[in-house]
Amino acid sequence: MALDKVDAALGLITEIDGFPEPGVRFRDLSPLFADAAGFSTVVDALASTIEPEVGLLAAVEARGFVLAAAVGYAAGLGVVLVRKPGKLPAVAGRVDYELEYGTASLELPAGVVAPGQRIQVVDDVLATGGTVKAACALLEKAGAAVAGVSVVLELAGLGGRATLGDRVVRALSTV
Ligand code: AMP
Repeated sequence: MALDKVDAALGLITEIDGFPEPGVRFRDLSPLFADAAGFSTVVDALASTIEPEVGLLAAVEARGFVLAAAVGYAAGLGVVLVRKPGKLPAVAGRVDYELEYGTASLELPAGVVAPGQRIQVVDDVLATGGTVKAACALLEKAGAAVAGVSVVLELAGLGGRATLGDRVVRALSTV
């Protein structure tokens, strides 16, 4: 895929300083999601980062859902939704993790992930890595193997890649 096309698509992402709190530079993918050509370029680029023999994508709520659904369609893979608490009628597992302020939790639906299955995690932005690490832990607790992690943007200064240890991390852009 032409790199300039990917760069042009990534150029649709806007930056908002001080949201959701002072000191944070928020990357808003809304204009990218709304642009048909940019969105399909990024979806195809993400699809090309999927590791061999992956049988399922895992999407992190909420922007990961948008990306993983489209990448799954492009790559011929299904998607398991890793959800915030209270959304699922039957839960296979739950992981609590630390945020900068307070804690958060993620849950996995029951009966979807098979032991031994190779899964690729998809999200929009890798920041501190806490969220994706929790999603990986949840999948691994269910007996799956995390083959890799695919994100649109990696914020290198926040150390997400190191948080994820020796997991394979593929980012379309690292800033
Ligand atoms: P993390 O710190 O890696 O656990 O980030 C948690 C989630 O918050 C990610 O899934 C991103 O969707 C979102 N996020 C964190 N930092 C940013 C940012 N600077 N801009 C946009 N989204 C962010």
